[in-house]
Amino acid sequence: MYAEVVIDINQRDLDRPFTYRIPDDLADRAVTGAPVRVPFGRSEKLRSGYIIGRFPDPPCDLSEERIKDIDSVLERGIGIEDQLRELAIRMRERYGGTLYQSLSVVLPNKLKVRPKRERYFLFVGTDDKLSEMSTAAEQKKHYAKLRLLSAFQENRVLPGSIVTDRLNISASTIRSFINAGVLEIRSQESGDDLQAVYDEISRHKASASPKMLNEEQQLAVDGILRESRQVSLLFGITGSGKTEVYLNLIEKVLQQGREAIVLIPEIALTYQTVMRFYERFGDLVSVVHSRLTKGDKCERFLKAQQGDIRVMIGPRSALFTPFRNLGLIIIDEFHEPSYISEQVPKYDTTEAAEMRAELSGAKLVLGSATPTVSVYYRALQGEIALFRLNARAVAGAQLPSVEIVDMREELHAKNRSIFSRTLQEKIRTRLEKSEQVMLFLNRRGYSGAVSCRACGEPLNCPHCSVAMKLHRDGMLHCHICGYEAAMPKACPQCGSQLLGAFGTGTEKVEEMAKECFPSARILRMDADTTAGKDGHREILEKFLHHEADILVGTQMIVKGHDFPNVTLVGVLAADLSLNIPDYRSSERTFQLLCQAEGRSGRASVPGECVVQTYLPEHYAIQAAAHHDFYEFYRHEMLFRKQLLYPPAGTFTAMILAGADAAKTEETIRRVFSEAMQRLPVPARFLGPTEMSIYKVKDLYRQVLYFKTQSTEDMILVKRLLEEISSEMIGNERLFISFER
Ligand code: ADP
Ligand code: ZN
Ligand code: ZN
Repeated sequence: MYAEVVIDINQRDLDRPFTYRIPDDLADRAVTGAPVRVPFGRSEKLRSGYIIGRFPDPPCDLSEERIKDIDSVLERGIGIEDQLRELAIRMRERYGGTLYQSLSVVLPNKLKVRPKRERYFLFVGTDDKLSEMSTAAEQKKHYAKLRLLSAFQENRVLPGSIVTDRLNISASTIRSFINAGVLEIRSQESGDDLQAVYDEISRHKASASPKMLNEEQQLAVDGILRESRQVSLLFGITGSGKTEVYLNLIEKVLQQGREAIVLIPEIALTYQTVMRFYERFGDLVSVVHSRLTKGDKCERFLKAQQGDIRVMIGPRSALFTPFRNLGLIIIDEFHEPSYISEQVPKYDTTEAAEMRAELSGAKLVLGSATPTVSVYYRALQGEIALFRLNARAVAGAQLPSVEIVDMREELHAKNRSIFSRTLQEKIRTRLEKSEQVMLFLNRRGYSGAVSCRACGEPLNCPHCSVAMKLHRDGMLHCHICGYEAAMPKACPQCGSQLLGAFGTGTEKVEEMAKECFPSARILRMDADTTAGKDGHREILEKFLHHEADILVGTQMIVKGHDFPNVTLVGVLAADLSLNIPDYRSSERTFQLLCQAEGRSGRASVPGECVVQTYLPEHYAIQAAAHHDFYEFYRHEMLFRKQLLYPPAGTFTAMILAGADAAKTEETIRRVFSEAMQRLPVPARFLGPTEMSIYKVKDLYRQVLYFKTQSTEDMILVKRLLEEISSEMIGNERLFISFER
């Protein structure tokens, strides 16, 4: 047998499959998709690669003696479907990088073959004990305990996966149950009573009955199913019941014997969200998320491939679940920037999903309350089907009324507080009525970054031009390359001992809020307070159960959480996100403001929102205050057309990274001037210039932006740039990549 192997090598002319012989003793493990080591080049140095195809005879243009043997198979691969391989090829074409890099995104690489013992949790106390403990947990507001106890009320035996993933129970809670003598753990291989265990588990089936859809929801479900276009945009305001539409679509797809993938931004992947899918489809559902080990993730992917799991939920990497008969991909909140990968290939999940949907003949549903201008434009052009949900699904719930406060006027009126007079007054009213308030600081940045308070010098990673963060373990971490170092005793620049982490400003907001509203109970949620494994969930849960009156936080607090008792949202510094140097900054601002507003008044009490800004007349802020996407879209399209930004054209960044700063800069300049001579189609260039984070992992990064009229033109220009670069780069260690 022979194999085609793609090798991990950063050289464009070698970025293609090579033929190798499969030695007999590796025949059963060297399957398509398997990661292998192969001798390569004159030195026969061993390199990593992936098998992307197998065939019985050697190609006729190669003499048998010249074909080398595969050295070893690393782990057993999961056997990729042709579809996924094709997807990797397309992603490589679109986003650059090497085929090997694309394959390692699409293929789950570290597959553990060792079967895992499933653990089972048995409640061994009496019925009386169970109800007694439930009452106590309820009184003490131990919600995790209560969740586990209610689950035990239905089933005295629970599989470990349900306890840890679905119910999200921590090890310390489990320990306390064991110490109290009411809980025992058994593993599958421990033998006795296994049949009883299985019987119990098989009773754990889907339980939720579907809601009656309202008219808009029904129209969307029927429409999407009947639609001949591949992609549908489900444009529904917050709370309009998009999830219910997804559930119904999934149900239909499962009935057709096909599978579904649901992508949810990592930050919104909470217990409540996932539970809605479990309740409807029971054990057919599985979740992948970034905290899973590669082995666990592979195991779930394997189950998906074998058909034991038929609905996969997760952040962007769940797109590559190896379902054989994929019928539906849903991307919830598809406008979220976290859907764009940060590693080469820097794929846009929406686009990659479109490629996968096309290859699998599946439908793609893009759900959002604030669609991107680019996708909405395509819907208007008729390329994408459009479905609207205009009303909130819960009767009586309405969008909040929004008041814009001009902070310049506050200054005129000698109010130097970060809270405007209006906001202060409204917060007081809420506190009196025992309703809850969210204060959203619209600011992103490197919170937790350590710097010297005396000289201002940041403590940078020695390999990257970013400040390192202080973690709970007392060590400094680089969040780009993972470098760790001990916190120095004194500033390396000035010797001062005043080193510290500065927050995003949320700490300051919390402090001022405490001063201003001394009786209020205040919680803060940002990268610092959520550093622990469950920090995020704990804070949200406390707030949900009204253990605090005010929640202060960054973007994290406005993403899709449902707090029925919140009737006021204050947006501090609404315009900060407008200052980010990116053509999408208005769009981001509009989306964030809409999301923040959407947190207010989710139940029957009407909500209010106060937006504090120095740019009250900006169209993104005005349109968000009116909940008017169309108003925003009209203004934004004028700007994009004028400057040929997407969707009026394409916008691509070519990044060149090298260890030698001067050489990298010189090379990109030469590539640029050569490209200008040989341009096949019109294109506008910006740069070359240094990237905003200049040094990453010891590589200095230069960027050249280009705009073209169409995607076809973009690919032509990209090819030209790749060609010129590889000529100029030659054997130098310079790395080229593309992103948007
Ligand atoms: P979205 O994802 O659009 O923000 P959700 O799907 O979370 O909205 O729905 C918002 C709320 O409305 C949820 O509490 C959900 O249970 C409820 N809901 C959705 N559809 C219906 C319906 N047809 N009838 C009654 N309640 C519904
Ligand atoms: Zn200093
Ligand atoms: Zn670093």
